[in-house]
Amino acid sequence: MIDLRSDTVTQPSAAMRQAMATAEVGDDVWGDDPTVAQLEALIAAKVGKAAGLFVPSGTQSNLVALLTHCQRGDEYLVGQEAHLYRYEGGGGAAFGGIQPQPLPVAADGSLALDHLRSAIKPLDFHFARTRLLCLENTMHGRVLPQGYVQDACALADAQGLAKHLDGARLFNAAVKQNVAAAALAAPFDSVSICLSKGLGAPVGSVLCGSMDFIQQAKRWRKMLGGGMRQSGILAAAGIYALEHNVERLVEDHANAAFLARELAAIAQVSIDMASVQTNMVFVTPTPGSADALTRHLKARGILVDPGATLRLVTHLDVSREDIAAVVREVRAFYDNY
Ligand SMILES: *Cc1c(COP(=O)(O)O)cnc(C)c1O
Repeated sequence: MIDLRSDTVTQPSAAMRQAMATAEVGDDVWGDDPTVAQLEALIAAKVGKAAGLFVPSGTQSNLVALLTHCQRGDEYLVGQEAHLYRYEGGGGAAFGGIQPQPLPVAADGSLALDHLRSAIKPLDFHFARTRLLCLENTMHGRVLPQGYVQDACALADAQGLAKHLDGARLFNAAVKQNVAAAALAAPFDSVSICLSKGLGAPVGSVLCGSMDFIQQAKRWRKMLGGGMRQSGILAAAGIYALEHNVERLVEDHANAAFLARELAAIAQVSIDMASVQTNMVFVTPTPGSADALTRHLKARGILVDPGATLRLVTHLDVSREDIAAVVREVRAFYDNY
């Protein structure tokens, strides 16, 4: 199988499993797990925040952030296509009485400053209190321009909003630009990092922020059922991932660029090359052929995220040879189409 549906499909390597098997653990709800503490400190340092909180998923991490930043009746500004708004079940509204204010997302992942400005409500009892700006980096595989991030966060600061970064794939953005993740996270009060995407761990995210923020976040994590016991066995995979799987993200980016270049040479598919920046390639097959192409690939052991536009995601379990095989099969499909 060559599984390009997502970078969440990665299998823990033998060495990662070994690190998990030998991890020193304790009851983390009691604060006794040294491996969880080590992971939280390690990742907090990498993203330049004072403290971290290990949670089971990126969804819980974002939800805990919403609940910590906002009160019932508050709202957050967020992209219409942001994961936090669109793919997390409306948790902020369901569990926190927090309303989203979704805004259009530009091709580069930004929310126009004018839209932000006009969406921030006046302090008046007719309106929800606008409390938080949420951005995402990377977004659909694209690196959010850091100049934009600074401007948007300055705007939020001027209006007294807090700022949260859904940095599920922040290390992809950092490696791509050859900058520290801490520099990308610096304008934000909180940042959420996924260990279970391109970093290759089986489970887990870490929410980072100030000591005080993380102290409050811990209470919400407990309420959501995210307080875990000997979770060092999972955190060990995260530490292994941070130590071994960050720099190698360049390989995934190079494989995605290679895949995009090769596929772009096939007349029946179109690819927006400007959008191929990290580990994702969006392929739009000639109308009417997407489903048949997806079936053709699946019959040959190649899985892609289906739709009118296919998403192909590179990761540590996909080699350059695998990518070459995918290109061969797409070409073969259209040769007989
Ligand atoms: C995957 C993802 C999440 C959520 O992570 P889960 O662990 O799947 O809950 C949040 N934001 C973005 C941008 C993601 O890609």
